Amino acid sequence: MQTTQDDTGSKLYTATLVRSQRITPADSPEEVRHLVLRREGKAFEGKMGQCIRIMAPGQYGNKYHPRLYLIAEPGSERDDGTEFAICVKRHNYIDDFNGERYPGIASNYLCDLPVGATVEFGGPVGYPFTMPESRQAGIIMIGMGTGIAPFRVLIRTIYEKYGSWEGKVRLFYGAKSGLEMLYMNDANKDLAQYVYQPTFKAFQAISPRPALDAPVELDKALEQNAAEVWEMVQRADTHVYVAGVNDMLPRVEKALAGIAGSVAAWTKVKKSLQDSDRWHEVLF
Ligand SMILES: Cc1cc2nc3c(=O)[nH]c(=O)nc-3n(C[C@H](O)[C@H](O)[C@H](O)COP(=O)(O)OP(=O)(O)OC[C@H]3O[C@@H](n4cnc5c(N)ncnc54)[C@H](O)[C@@H]3O)c2cc1C
Repeated sequence: MQTTQDDTGSKLYTATLVRSQRITPADSPEEVRHLVLRREGKAFEGKMGQCIRIMAPGQYGNKYHPRLYLIAEPGSERDDGTEFAICVKRHNYIDDFNGERYPGIASNYLCDLPVGATVEFGGPVGYPFTMPESRQAGIIMIGMGTGIAPFRVLIRTIYEKYGSWEGKVRLFYGAKSGLEMLYMNDANKDLAQYVYQPTFKAFQAISPRPALDAPVELDKALEQNAAEVWEMVQRADTHVYVAGVNDMLPRVEKALAGIAGSVAAWTKVKKSLQDSDRWHEVLF
């Protein structure tokens, strides 16, 4: 089913849009959609934590406008592996020069794509999030916005595929407001089914002043659970996963340094997590 190549010679594939569901409530100012795609004829090998490169039609003479999207459901979650999903936020921006509002090219193309249409894509891109070897291992997930996509896969994998998990599983998840808590709002409550798992706890963080773009208080959520976070990150088997927008990391790192007691103490712990492949991150 391989079709063409992009400018760098990487293989491109074709997928058909099978389902497009808005997963933020209708009254939320943000539109985020869960898109299920089917790669005809052959399984798609992308894994949790990896992205696909969507080749949206380009503008101004460019054939493509390529953009990355995290895999929200790997092919391996479906029967024959041909279906997979991505989670896309409709992106608009204000031009600094003329103050006009422009639609982001790839995100609007994807959010407006009708069911049955085809899209070209490349990948998978990036390193997959590896799972801890032992079911007793701790899992800390820290995410923002569409960064929750790989965490949803992780949580489903451990409680549905593995059946249970004995270590502590902690999700620190931030969004501008409660309406934008993806997979945990009135439009889609997918993750709510796991709150009854004895080893799972989710902590949500929002922005105190979303209209003014005040930062989401993920750092506070971590600080409120300082003792448990500190105990978990020092264990030799805990894995930490971070996914979301780039600018969340400095605040998260600052909170973790505070929890550790100093930047030096946190740097040491983080190095040990990284050296043993227990620190996983995808930022954008
Ligand atoms: C590793 C990775 C994973 C990602 N995963 C996801 C995901 O799972 N879900 C998701 O929704 N997004 C994800 N993204 C973001 C995604 O790749 C796109 O960047 C996003 O959808 C916007 O693309 P766009 O084509 O719609 O916008 P574009 O048209 O590319 O515009 C994006 C930005 O470019 C700037 N810009 C472009 N043109 C102009 C101009 N003329 N004047 C001023 N500024 C301009 C603006 O700052 C604007 O905000 C990910 C990104 C990375 C790097």
